[in-house]
This record gives sequence, structure tokens and C-alpha cells, in this order.
Amino acid sequence: MASIRSTVVGALACQKDSYLKKFETTVVSCHEVQAAKSKSKSKKQPDAPSDAKTEYELVLKDTILFPEGGGQPSDSGVITTPETSIPVLAIRRAVLTALHKVPIPVAPATPVVLEVDWARRFDHMQQHSGQHLISAVLDTMQIPTLAWNLGEKFSYVELPRKLTDEEVAAVEDRCNEVIRQALTIWVEIPDKDLVNKQKLPDDYDADSGVLRVVHIGDLDANPCCGTHLSNTREMNSIVLLHQVPNKSTNSRLFFLIGDRVRKYAAENHALMRRLNARLSCQTDEIEAKVARLETLLRDSLKREKMWASEVVINEAVTVKQALQEHKRAFIYRPDAALDYLTSLVGEIGAFEGLLVLACGAVKSPGALMVLGEGADVFAASVRESGIVKSLKGGGKGGKWQGKVAEWEKGEPEALRKFVLA
Ligand SMILES: [Zn+2]
Repeated sequence: MASIRSTVVGALACQKDSYLKKFETTVVSCHEVQAAKSKSKSKKQPDAPSDAKTEYELVLKDTILFPEGGGQPSDSGVITTPETSIPVLAIRRAVLTALHKVPIPVAPATPVVLEVDWARRFDHMQQHSGQHLISAVLDTMQIPTLAWNLGEKFSYVELPRKLTDEEVAAVEDRCNEVIRQALTIWVEIPDKDLVNKQKLPDDYDADSGVLRVVHIGDLDANPCCGTHLSNTREMNSIVLLHQVPNKSTNSRLFFLIGDRVRKYAAENHALMRRLNARLSCQTDEIEAKVARLETLLRDSLKREKMWASEVVINEAVTVKQALQEHKRAFIYRPDAALDYLTSLVGEIGAFEGLLVLACGAVKSPGALMVLGEGADVFAASVRESGIVKSLKGGGKGGKWQGKVAEWEKGEPEALRKFVLA
């Protein structure tokens, strides 16, 4: 068993030939790892059964599953033993060794077949090789790439300054020109002394490892561990999108490459078609249509405010009259909110008696205000009666205010009877 050795990261089968989709190899070792524990486990019950899953990490003789590195996320795939097929959840690099995380153990010396999730991997290759090309073109303009990120949907390069629209257009044109030129992308393993070691991860053992330089024709040479395309034409197309400022002067320039471009076009075309139907207009009319709707909404809100203040004035007169005659008044507005009740109270001003105001529709949340002499005592009697089941609130003396989590059917009417009894 001890005679089987694993291949170092830098010379993995996927790094030598990034187009391998299926691969036969052997398990070198298998060890247990504790998956992240559930955060819900109570500290007060240390003896409660833990739902932490046990997972395992396999070292293989060689692999076509790329461990996370150089900005490229980990692959995913399937490992098939003579007995069963199991998913490879993630692959990580520990110094020079690729570790494959799996849900069940596989004994050392077991012969296995690996299969990579090719759609995911090819997408990563398009984004990663494309990023090298974008950065190479930016280098010719003396704009260094400070970092990059391969995202689920969009990726970006981080630059020391914001690019002008003209610069973005020029970079995009040049990148697509290089795609059409169909330049060969190839990996060189030069003398270690010639490689810029500043670009290596801190925990990589450069002396025992393999240092690679990825070339795009004669245009670019860049130390990189990633899995790359073999020709720029496989990028299909590069689209530069928006920029987002970061830190004080940096700018993140977002991009899409390869199959992501047509997927994005199809998704956005479908979205535009839905908006065309909902707004009953053509795509080039959408902005004007939305601007008209915004104006309409603004005008409606202004009118609603005006009418609401009219209603408050009229309702205040009725309430004052009721208070004078009966010393009690009840107002329930299913379609109003608390601000309406507050405006009404302000308009009524000082009064003698007891005033109960409620808002909110049945099956919805609402509010309740009790004002006047002994308001707190009356509110307590409402709560005690159980007429409004989900009522909670507080106050003292002449003002009590509460929330109704949900008005139940019949509750507003029952409350009216209770107040006016
Ligand atoms: Zn790279």
C-alpha cells in the first residue's frame, strides 16, 4: 500500500489534460473529517445527539477533479468503486495533495473511476482562460489586474481605477478579435528560477511542486494552476458588463464569457418579452412607459393624501359629536393604517369620554388605540374579555396603544358592541 504515491498538485491529470472527462485511478488513503456541526445544538445540552455528519477525504493516485485554486472553484464529480457510485462533494488542496471529500469511506488500494461534472468544469475553463485574456489586454494598456473572482453568474476583474466607456469598448473589441484569431493556449513548465513566485499561494511548496505558466499564443504568459481551454476560439465571445467601485479608487469590471453569454441573452430576452406583455409595449418603449407609470403613481399618492385629510376632518366632526352625546365613540377602518388613526386623533383634539380607534382588515394585522379617562383600565377589560384574541400593547392613564397580530372574523363588530354597550 505504501508504495502507491499520489501525484502532486501542479502535475495532476486535469492540469496536464483539462479535457479528460473520465479517469481510472486508485485510492491511496482515506481519512475521516467532521462536517460542520449544526448551529442549533444547545450549549445547555452537551449530551444531546449531534447532527454533525461524518465525511471522508480521499487521496487518489492521480485525479481529473481540480481542487480549488488560482481563483477557480473546485470541480464536482462522481467516484465509482467496484461496489457503488458516490458523489465527490468538493476537492481541496493541502500543500501539494488534492483531497476529495466524499460521504462514505473508500478503502485504500480500491480501484476507482472518476467522472467530472463537465458542464460546470468547461464553464470554469471558459471564464478562467477568458479572464487571462481580458487581463492580458488590460496589461497592454498598463492597467494591472489586482484580483479576480469567478462567480456563479457574473465574474469580475478588480482594477486600480474605473475604466471609461471608450476603454471598456476597446478592451472588449480586442478580446473578441483575439478569440477570432484562434490563438493556441498552452502550458509551459519552465525552470523554477524563471517563474514569478509572488503569484503562488503562500502555502504552496514551490521546491517540491510543479510551477506552470499558461500562455495565450505570444500575447500572454501567466503563472497559473488552473485548467484552461486549448484555443481562444473556445471562449466563443467575451462581453464586458458594468463596473462597481471598490475600496477607495478600485473598480470591479464584470464580465461574461462563452456559453454564459448566450444563456444571459436568452434569459434577458425572455424577461423583456414578459415585460412587453405586462406593459403592452415594445422593448424600446419600456423606459418611457415606466416613467409614465411613476408619474401616475406619484399623482395618485398625492391625491390619496389630499382625500385622506378631507376624510379625517369630516370624521373628526362626527366623532366629536358622538363623544359629546354619548361620552363614548368607536371608529374601525379596515383599509386604513395607524397613521390615519394618529391624524384623526390630532384633528379631534381634547375631549371628554372614551375613544376607541381600530384599523386593519380581517385576516390581516392591525392596530388599536384607546384614549380618554381610564383608557388603560378599559384596554385591560378588552384584553380580559378575549374579544380580540391577538391583541398586545401597553400604556398608562389616558392613552393605551396596541397591535393586533391578526383580526379574526367578527372581532371588529364584537369590539364595537363592547365599547358602545
Ligand atoms: Zn489563472
